[in-house]
Amino acid sequence: MAYLTEPVPPYGAPTRVAEGIRRIVARNPGLMTYHGTNTYLVDTEAGTFVIDPGPDDPAHLQAVARSIETALAGILMTHGHADHCGGLNSFRRIVDAPVWAFHRQLAGSPSADFGLREGDSVGGLGVVHTPGHASDHICFAHPSGILFSGDHVMSWSSSVVSPPDGDMAAYCASLRKCLDRSDRAFLPGHGPILPKPHSYVRDLLHHREEREKAILHLLRRQPMLPDEIARLLYVNRDARLMPAATRNVMAHLQKLEREGHVSRAQDLWHAASLRRAGDGSGP
Ligand SMILES: [Zn+2]
Repeated sequence: MAYLTEPVPPYGAPTRVAEGIRRIVARNPGLMTYHGTNTYLVDTEAGTFVIDPGPDDPAHLQAVARSIETALAGILMTHGHADHCGGLNSFRRIVDAPVWAFHRQLAGSPSADFGLREGDSVGGLGVVHTPGHASDHICFAHPSGILFSGDHVMSWSSSVVSPPDGDMAAYCASLRKCLDRSDRAFLPGHGPILPKPHSYVRDLLHHREEREKAILHLLRRQPMLPDEIARLLYVNRDARLMPAATRNVMAHLQKLEREGHVSRAQDLWHAASLRRAGDGSGP
């Protein structure tokens, strides 16, 4: 995978990323967040929309509020993970604006005023439901051909798909949904702008297909536990990433189980026995 990198961006100040779109990066860098969560300010005819206020960091939220040049029209949430919506309640104490999200009740305590569904539009931004990384994940399509892709497609890394809320089959279907669109660039929840997103999304899908083949290959040799599979597949990785890697393996296993390729006996996973020609095929 050809992931993108960028220098540490300035914290606490907006940077213009496209016509009418600015980004402020929250100071929550980490193994899962890269330099931090991207908060976007999108200027529309209806006013400015904030996409993902980010974590509950007063300095970041104040910087976002200060950067709103016209009237604040609303707050849009890509999904309910804490690094995106943890600061929502605090932000609403600074600014006065309605909140839109897929679920009106977000993970934890924050809640939205309005629910969104596939095909809805807010301030000219189209809603694309992209479950997989999270069941409530939505992307927002800007009329200029830019998709705010949240954590569904990130430029710096592949996404964690962690069951039970994360679902690998849904994630792959949501990647294919992106291939059916004609966006010219993605603005992700972490990392820099992603130009020419189609080839990148195709690579992400290929990456998952290869992982799936590798898991099946291992299980055809012997039954294994998910963390044993993760240790063999994710070699030379930071040990702190292994719990997330194991969650990804679990998501693959559950997809393969639903498709009839693997089964489990308690925690131990087996490859489904291969049918020999003629077995059970009738006369
Ligand atoms: Zn997330």
